[in-house]
Amino acid sequence: MFRRIRSYCLLGIKAVPVNVEVDSSQGLPGFTLVGLPDNAVRESRERVVSAIRSAGKVVTGFRTTVNLSPADLRKEGSALDLPLAFGLLTAAEEIEAPDLEHLVFVGELSLDGLLKPVRGVLSIAMSLSEKSKDILVIPKGNEQEASLVEGIRYVCADTLMECIEKIEAGAENYAQHASGLKEQMNLTHADRDIPDFKNVVGMEGVKRALEVAAAGAHNFLMVGSPGAGKTLCAKCLPGVLPEMTELEILETTRIHSCARSAGDSEEFKPVMIRPFRTPHHSASMVSLVGGGTRLKPGEASLAHNGVLFLDELPEFNRSVLEALREPMEEGEISISRASGTVTWPARFMMGAAMNPCPCGYAMDPKRACTCLPEARKRYQEKISGPLLDRIDIQVSVPPVEASQFGRKSTAESSAEIRKRICSAREIQRKRFEGTPFKTNAEMTSDFAKKSCKLSAETEQFAINAADRMGLSARGFYRLLKVGRTIADLRKSDSVEIVDLSEALRYRAFRS
Ligand SMILES: [Zn+2]
Repeated sequence: MFRRIRSYCLLGIKAVPVNVEVDSSQGLPGFTLVGLPDNAVRESRERVVSAIRSAGKVVTGFRTTVNLSPADLRKEGSALDLPLAFGLLTAAEEIEAPDLEHLVFVGELSLDGLLKPVRGVLSIAMSLSEKSKDILVIPKGNEQEASLVEGIRYVCADTLMECIEKIEAGAENYAQHASGLKEQMNLTHADRDIPDFKNVVGMEGVKRALEVAAAGAHNFLMVGSPGAGKTLCAKCLPGVLPEMTELEILETTRIHSCARSAGDSEEFKPVMIRPFRTPHHSASMVSLVGGGTRLKPGEASLAHNGVLFLDELPEFNRSVLEALREPMEEGEISISRASGTVTWPARFMMGAAMNPCPCGYAMDPKRACTCLPEARKRYQEKISGPLLDRIDIQVSVPPVEASQFGRKSTAESSAEIRKRICSAREIQRKRFEGTPFKTNAEMTSDFAKKSCKLSAETEQFAINAADRMGLSARGFYRLLKVGRTIADLRKSDSVEIVDLSEALRYRAFRS
């Protein structure tokens, strides 16, 4: 018998339809698999046959040919186990499968017939149309992801045996309707484990700089002695950023779903709070921007719609940092391989922290820096000019005075700061209606100039400041963009001298 089973493969973030065609006939027993399978797929036959046997069925003794189409697409991973199992079962007429043409199978099988979750199910669910009669057949461990896409229907099972029973009895009878995201969106920021700015003693200047960065989605860099509290401050950021929209949650969760390890039995949760990713400075190119043999997304994509925080910035491999320039400009990462190019979304706010010099105490009034001037220079030069050029806010972090320790903090809570940030973002949303930009950080220099509405006096102030500080043209427009955000925070239509003066303070490092 010939049978065609529908499934999907991942190509970057995209789910691409794949058919598993199985032809089993009488004759000398044998098994041929064609259609660009990778090793995991090639080995699937052993897993699948053993899983089928443990479900009490027999599919051997046939001359079987399996074709994975389209033939020019490289099929990766173990997600084709389940469609292959149903292909073999139906082609051998071991089971009846009504409505086979409406079923889409994905899942990995273990030798004893357990159905294990696979990555990327959210992408697959999103590519099924709400109106179609299609039913997704998936492992129970992927149910959470499928249920996020409102309107689609799915059947899930823990074992191949259970899956066969449900399909034989008619998938229609077992299909569940995905409830969608809204059902799961009742979390508030307070329920989540994010450090609060009200517990950060002192550091008012730094907190303000981060507020401005968050309001305009500006990249930021903090320079200060070790232990000054840079990392703690940065970790508070997710608590002041605006709630994610439904679309953002789906976009980001989809990437996290593709990054999942196959067979991962941990419960998968949608990403409801803006991600805050902190890759270690020893991170490789692949772990930061993605790729590798399995083409998984990197930290930069996992930080999509959130913050990518690089602590100890100069310790990162320079070529790794340079690779971040593409996503910082384009909001996505393209990875080319022999089989084609895949693109990952990667629109994040980049945050970074560093010491002012190798010993760390160049800015400390109480401790002497022991570094030679050349060593200090070399250290700072590890960060390239073009990368620094993309960091709108550069702030120095003074050490916290000892007298501040133990003092009860009277600082504002993250919730209060967040209100100001959200209204500044709302102003930006209106400003950028009908444009490709969403935030002040993204606007072009022309747009920045226009939106600032500088008076003649303010413009002269900006030009004098740029002259005095030797700003490049790019540096000048960065000044305007940050000024625009500061003015938005105080709900002013035009950018005034006071806003620009504050923006000038956020260039602690170099222009
Ligand atoms: Zn030093």
